[in-house]
Amino acid sequence: MSPAELDLSAPIQFLKGVGPKRAKALKEVGVETVEDLLLYLPHRYVDRSLLTPISRLQVNSTATILAKVVGIREEKGRRRRLVAILGDGTGFVECVWFQGYKYIRGLLRGGERVMASGPVRFFGRLQMPHPEFEILEGEEEELIHTGRIIPIYPSTAGLKAIGLSNRSLRSLIKGLLDSLLPQVEETLPLEVIRRHSLLPRQEAISNLHFPTSGELTKRARERLAFEEFFFWELVMALRQGRRIRKKGLQFKKPGSLVRDFIAGLPFELTSAQRRVLREIYRDVSSGKPMHRLLQGDVGSGKTIVALISLLWAVENGYQAALMAPTEILAEQHYHTLRGLLGPIDLETRLLVSGIPKARREETLDGIGKGVTKVVLGTHALIEEGVSFCNLGLAVIDEQHKFGVVQRASLRGKGSSPHLLVMTATPIPRSLALTVYGDLDISVLDELPPGRRRVKTIWRDERAREKVYSFLRDKIREGRQVYIICPLVEESEKLDLRAATQMAEHLGKEVFPEFKVDLLHGRMRGETKEEIMGRFRRGKIDILVSTTVVEVGADVPNAAIILVEHAERFGLSQLHQMRGRVGRGEHQSYCILLVSYPLSSEARERIETICRTTDGFRIAEADLRLRGPGEFMGTRQHGLPQFKVANLASDGPLLCRAREEAFALVSKGQALKEPYKGILLRRFREGGKLLEAG
Ligand code: ADP
Ligand code: MG
Repeated sequence: MSPAELDLSAPIQFLKGVGPKRAKALKEVGVETVEDLLLYLPHRYVDRSLLTPISRLQVNSTATILAKVVGIREEKGRRRRLVAILGDGTGFVECVWFQGYKYIRGLLRGGERVMASGPVRFFGRLQMPHPEFEILEGEEEELIHTGRIIPIYPSTAGLKAIGLSNRSLRSLIKGLLDSLLPQVEETLPLEVIRRHSLLPRQEAISNLHFPTSGELTKRARERLAFEEFFFWELVMALRQGRRIRKKGLQFKKPGSLVRDFIAGLPFELTSAQRRVLREIYRDVSSGKPMHRLLQGDVGSGKTIVALISLLWAVENGYQAALMAPTEILAEQHYHTLRGLLGPIDLETRLLVSGIPKARREETLDGIGKGVTKVVLGTHALIEEGVSFCNLGLAVIDEQHKFGVVQRASLRGKGSSPHLLVMTATPIPRSLALTVYGDLDISVLDELPPGRRRVKTIWRDERAREKVYSFLRDKIREGRQVYIICPLVEESEKLDLRAATQMAEHLGKEVFPEFKVDLLHGRMRGETKEEIMGRFRRGKIDILVSTTVVEVGADVPNAAIILVEHAERFGLSQLHQMRGRVGRGEHQSYCILLVSYPLSSEARERIETICRTTDGFRIAEADLRLRGPGEFMGTRQHGLPQFKVANLASDGPLLCRAREEAFALVSKGQALKEPYKGILLRRFREGGKLLEAG
């Protein structure tokens, strides 16, 4: 089929020159339809004005050169390497590869013209270690010489293997543009385009690939990213709109139960906690179902806000439930609530999967009849046999550990109950607006008073003895210690072995005078709780653990956390672990033990975590280092796949697009054409949304 007969949503294999093999390879890079190909984002552009003659290369700068391969040699010896000598008539430079050079050896041939970009170094000779390079074919060099800016697409091994070079991609896209561009329709409202000075769609797509100036590449990308955000936020706005139209339970002002509980707390609520409670109050008294995300850094005191909300629901005659991702955490919340309730008489139950059958049945019965007012639990709460009499509020703690479906099932245990979801992993605003764009967001941005900043340092193996003697001193002063054991990728078993050996070694050989114990995820619920209980009561000095204590655990006397192989953990995870200490009046310490070699990214993580304790700053850095998918974890996170937009760097653009999308919905225009059709095409759930709207 020739491009002119194609529609934008047609599968790519019908395009002339594509065929099944290429279609399969393109699919791997996310290109399935003609439109996907039009939006295939170059990862950079080459502009003649950006090329540096070899004679003018500056050591320790980064540069792009255009040169000929004049020699290739492999050097054996201590560090095997491949060296390609490039010359451009003004001088010579050596490109050096230590890794992956077999592959490169296969690509490079003497006499070829290449473009290479990378750092410039001087080791006796001018060198470029591990440059990115492109082999140029005749026509491309001409393009550069005539001053055109040419797009360089991310070339994956898969595409190369089937001979789809950058050059063929370019000509494929060029052909598409020539014939199809006039068919590309505008998708954004004209006034939005005007208000934000965006490029019209056709112009944006054309400049994305063959820009006439460097400035236009930026504007093209911006326009297309705006559009992606806009339609996603339209979905969020419609979802929110649908919820707002529902009727919800209407709570009355807090009465004596809530007031006495607050008055009996061993501390004053922080002003951030009071503000968030007011926000919750506004929601639950509005007559619409609450749908609120509570974000707060580790240790900011989210639990108490949740507990107060639970009591509030009870006071209004409803049942309330709180779901946590681990048994340890559910039990901890249970004990906290029981402790704080003191003499207040309130039927409260714990529901986790590990409890004996008889007790479970009795618990379910109480929940079903409405005798039990507050239920704290794990996933066990959303199992089939659990049915509430009149659930009025569902709270989900550490909600990022749950999937979208699980959140929905807890809500489904009542009829339009209020929902409060909490997260201690601060999420950068751009991500929060994307993933939770239909929720209202509250932020606990203040730590309880008197907290001291946790001192964070990193050390390597050579310092182990010193670190141990530091721990010894602190334990003698009465403190307790967590030691988190290596995270061995993808293997819980190995994790477990490492932790077990560590606990034995420490208990017998290093700290025979102290009580050392072990905690890991494979233990039975009761055992875990028993160990956490002893740790809480100060009967254990050193708790060696796998990452199960990562979330939630709250033992104020534990003032030191030592993380083994800290280089293997992500930033947010390190931040979470550090959050286990600094919860009491004592100066706390987080010691990160690292092993070499440290990748540059790992080093950046370690340095960032040592430098800052601000969870939001850490989250921004984490997002930048890992990208949104990894950041959100492998769970079903509800994150859309953006082709052009970048959540780590396009935050401000997202906010603008969001405002416009919400405005369109409030004007009642969002379900008119062309928006309706675009939504249906772009999002699988589009149909459901429109039905409801
Ligand atoms: P997170 O937000 O990480 O879930 P928690 O709710 O576990 O934090 O609270 C951390 C610690 O701070 C707990 O020991 C809790 O009792 C204490 N805490 C909470 N609010 C206050 C407050 N207003 N003043 C003093 N301590 C508080
Ligand atoms: Mg918590």
